[in-house]
Amino acid sequence: MTKVIDIINKKKAPFASFELVPPLKGSDISKLYNAIEPLMEFAPPFINITYHRDEIEYRQKPDGTFEKAILTKRPGSVAIAAAIMKRFPVEVVPHLICGGASKYQLENDLIDLNFLDIQNVVALRGDAIPGQKYFVPEPDGHRYSCELVKQIHNMNRGIYLDETLTNAVHTNFCIGVAAYPEKHYEAPNIDIDIENLKQKVEAGADYIVTQMFFDNKKFYGFVEKCRAAGISVPIIPGLKPISTRTHIEMLPRAFSIDLPQDLMNEIRKCKDNQEIYQIGIEWCTSQSKDLLAHGAPAIHYYTMGKADNIREILKRAF
Ligand code: FAD
Repeated sequence: MTKVIDIINKKKAPFASFELVPPLKGSDISKLYNAIEPLMEFAPPFINITYHRDEIEYRQKPDGTFEKAILTKRPGSVAIAAAIMKRFPVEVVPHLICGGASKYQLENDLIDLNFLDIQNVVALRGDAIPGQKYFVPEPDGHRYSCELVKQIHNMNRGIYLDETLTNAVHTNFCIGVAAYPEKHYEAPNIDIDIENLKQKVEAGADYIVTQMFFDNKKFYGFVEKCRAAGISVPIIPGLKPISTRTHIEMLPRAFSIDLPQDLMNEIRKCKDNQEIYQIGIEWCTSQSKDLLAHGAPAIHYYTMGKADNIREILKRAF
């Protein structure tokens, strides 16, 4: 087991890491393996697996009344992480979210991960469930990700929720947290968002991974502000190539980010998704090369289970 922070500190050359989503309920795990296999050529030291909280759907019954259904669309993050580590020579970094879980459930998930010798996690808050305007923590849950970071950091010191436990095993988790070069959508301004990010680091986060961005200047400005605020842990930039026309509307709305005018001008010239796909590869390659030239220790790619464009970008940039 190697911690992500040690990988970052010890690697002589910058590297790529990837983020994948668990397969939809009822799908075969081989789909996920097929998405990982072509990326192994680039020897990623770690792969992240996202976590998806339950969703609520109201289904109409034949008599016209509605029935509430709780859906776990992408279950199995912990088991998937273990399965990937068994199959590929790679560390796996499962994401854990506060949304929908009590701190007791989170503790049990962390105990499972520790038993499986998975000692890298990304600690997140998660979003409100669809239909809910604001994020509402569970009773006995965490409101902010820094509280989850603190919980994990405590377990690393043998402090569990049950204070009567004595001589409890000290876990050894390396903790990543999220950050937003263009500000988290709920934060009143970027400076306050960075103050809140600093709290996560002070609670025990070892490194930071950013939300995707399409203008490197925003990332550089963000890193500068973080350093000025006293955040000294590594900050890994996150990138995603645009691949379809729907991304143009979907990405700004879903992730509260801007698409630069130069990129939009290029996309507007495209006749179809095939041309947009190529522009996405070129844009992401040039972002990657520029980040590497500016000394990024690593680049984290949001693959969404699609390897071909990412492979092309890596071949050109690394
Ligand atoms: P937090 O750090 O809790 O921040 C949320 C908001 O609260 C921010 O506006 C922040 O400024 C503010 N805040 C934070 N701490 C405090 C405090 N102490 N006091 C007052 N305000 C505070 N979502 C998933 O559901 N599953 C995933 O696997 C997943 N992976 C992700 C990976 C990355 C790299 C990123 C960037 C995001 C990911 N997300 C994932 C999305 C994430 O859950 C959402 O963006 C969520 O809205 C915020 O999560 P967070 O951990 O940044 O929250």
